[in-house]
Amino acid sequence: MSARWTDETLHEGVRMGFEVRRTLHAADTGQQRLELVENPVFGTMMLLDGAVQVTSADEFAYHEMMAHVPLAAHGGVRRVLIIGGGDCGLAEEVLKHRDLERVVQVEIDPDVVAFARDHFPELNAAAFADPRFEIKIGDGAKFVAETQDHFDLILVDSTDPAGPGAVLFTETFYRDCAGRLAPNGIIVTQSGVPFLQGDAFVAGLGALHRATGDASCYLTVVPTYFGGHMALGWAGPGAAAARHTAETVLAERMAGIATRYWSPAMHHAAFALPPFIAEALAAA
Ligand code: SAM
Repeated sequence: MSARWTDETLHEGVRMGFEVRRTLHAADTGQQRLELVENPVFGTMMLLDGAVQVTSADEFAYHEMMAHVPLAAHGGVRRVLIIGGGDCGLAEEVLKHRDLERVVQVEIDPDVVAFARDHFPELNAAAFADPRFEIKIGDGAKFVAETQDHFDLILVDSTDPAGPGAVLFTETFYRDCAGRLAPNGIIVTQSGVPFLQGDAFVAGLGALHRATGDASCYLTVVPTYFGGHMALGWAGPGAAAARHTAETVLAERMAGIATRYWSPAMHHAAFALPPFIAEALAAA
């Protein structure tokens, strides 16, 4: 019997195939199509509307860089807001910082949270057991428009700019995020793969720049988000200064937290941009 494969067709003109050894779950959640499958290379994989969101094998390259770059660079974060991030792997990474007082996550789709909790315990069990973690179900854009709370760090761990995630790439949303930041606060956004999503990268970073007055990005490489580097938007009143935190200080702030991708040297290197990305950013 031939193997079953699933193709990700997120990007026009290219597709990436994954062998499906087992389907753990496949259903429409009312918000999006949710699939959980097992692949021999990437382990458990979660797809939303056919796009890979998280895999047990390579999540560290995304979650560590989204969490530890701003937390180590800022140094004084107490309150964190995560928008999206349904698998809760980012929350778990964030909560490794013992000085944090509160992590609030706003995710639109309760099924993503429930299935990730059942099928990715290695990614999120510690987050669910942590009293500092609070998860709210709702639209992240609506939440930031209405809340009166302030946060030292806002992490936008969104899907791509389509469907329910589209609003999380708009200037209005970023403006509302900026309004909820404490002095010296930082915003980090999932800003896609510039090589394959050049227009979306420019549009999203442009909106972030107009909303905050100064936006740039840093890079990670996540094998399942194919096409090369993934960009993480970097903005907010504390972003420019935190960008230059010395490696020795970063290492001290991360003492006791084991990582497989983040290191003080990778942290600094992540802000070096190849010219094709720097030029796209300048045009944003
Ligand atoms: N790491 C992933 C990536 O870059 O592909 C993103 C992971 S995470 C699973 C994205 C989450 O954003 C999903 O669980 C989705 O339900 C959620 N989401 C999409 N639109 C949202 C909105 N408007 N408010 C809150 N959460 C939203």
